[in-house]
Amino acid sequence: MSKNGMVTKIHTRIRTDPFTANYDLVGKELGRGKFAVVKKCIEKATGKQYAAKFLRKRRKGADCRMDILNEIAVLEAAKANPYVVALHEVYETHTEIVLVLECAAGGEIFNQCVADNDEAFTEKDVIRLAKQILTGVAFLHRNNVVHLDLKPQNILLTSARPLGDIRIVDFGLSRRMDNITEVREILGTPEYVAPEILNYEPISTATDMWSIGVLIYVMLTGESPFLGDEKQQTFLNISQVNVDYSQDTFEGISSLAIDFIKSLLLKNPRKRATAEECLNHPWLNPLPHPHSHPHLHTRSAASLDEPETSQSESEPESPA
Ligand code: ADP
Ligand code: MG
Repeated sequence: MSKNGMVTKIHTRIRTDPFTANYDLVGKELGRGKFAVVKKCIEKATGKQYAAKFLRKRRKGADCRMDILNEIAVLEAAKANPYVVALHEVYETHTEIVLVLECAAGGEIFNQCVADNDEAFTEKDVIRLAKQILTGVAFLHRNNVVHLDLKPQNILLTSARPLGDIRIVDFGLSRRMDNITEVREILGTPEYVAPEILNYEPISTATDMWSIGVLIYVMLTGESPFLGDEKQQTFLNISQVNVDYSQDTFEGISSLAIDFIKSLLLKNPRKRATAEECLNHPWLNPLPHPHSHPHLHTRSAASLDEPETSQSESEPESPA
């Protein structure tokens, strides 16, 4: 069952008993987007914490139930990957569908991207998180799913301090790669969209790879590479691939990091590195020579081959 790249056949049982019979809402909103509000909640039966995403079925007068089923189907397809947010349950009322999701208590990586120095990511942090993002995205791509809305607001953390692990969220624009025909309506956020989206050219897994290039740029520098004063300027910067790789912007950041970003911010989608290729890039795989070069660059990518944290794959901790 696939129309326009959407998958609407789902396996999760949609509950029609009231969400509030089984969950208590706690605290204030975790976040919101155009058509969704996300609130923290506690499952009464277990005391466990979740994030409930409330999605309106009618948007601008149109029935969007199929879009929500597509979002659920993609979450189901990615269930085996720890870096994609886990879906716990689904509820439906006359007006909305509620996705009960694993709670990523550390919030959006957006916050650290725009933070001051002492709270901002170090290159070492970005290397660890980039590997996780790419592992998640490589999994989606192997399963023929494109996310199409990768940006710092849709990449969350299990914990902010200490810095936890990433969870990819928001599959509202995601599509199956087979049979996408119309892309006009699935425009993401201007700053992060690839040139082929602006030109109504075919989208592919490479479209996500462009967004990852923008994402890593922002995580390392705190600056959005294509953002202009007006939308038109942003679009022009994207279509001309007008990127600042100056020493000034990349102060203290390794040249391997710049090389990595350059392999993604390429206008021709076929020339961009794939998620698998990125995972093999030397920036993410420092050579193991612990004694030979103690101070190659400031915060060099060397000696960053630390083990992955393992506490992450368990249940998220209580809120910060
Ligand atoms: P939209 O499609 O409206 O953008 P998202 O799924 O991106 O909806 O959710 C909106 C915001 O809610 C996110 O940017 C994030 O801040 C917060 N959020 C979403 N899912 C979770 C979650 N599982 N845990 C914690 N916060 C979340
Ligand atoms: Mg979002």
